[in-house]
Amino acid sequence: MTSRRNDLLRQPPTLQCTFVDERGRRCPERRRLELDHVEGFARTGKHAVDALRVLCRMHNQGAAEKMYGRTFMEAKRKGQLVPVRVPPSRSSPEPA
Ligand SMILES: [Zn+2]
Repeated sequence: MTSRRNDLLRQPPTLQCTFVDERGRRCPERRRLELDHVEGFARTGKHAVDALRVLCRMHNQGAAEKMYGRTFMEAKRKGQLVPVRVPPSRSSPEPA
């Protein structure tokens, strides 16, 4: 299932940020590239290979800010957010 993802990572000559601005100019960044989850990993909770795109760090941050909101991302960067994982069967502590 990860073959396409591996393909993306294995082709450095063609790897380039896929961000296109409002004038149709593609971002020339070829370094500091990251795989972005189009649907948002925090939303779907799964890695869908068809929903991956290559973005440079700057545009990946920008896309995440658009999706989750600037306040959320700033809080996340400052470490003010705790992971949204709830441990199983811990919500009702049993009396000792
Ligand atoms: Zn870019």
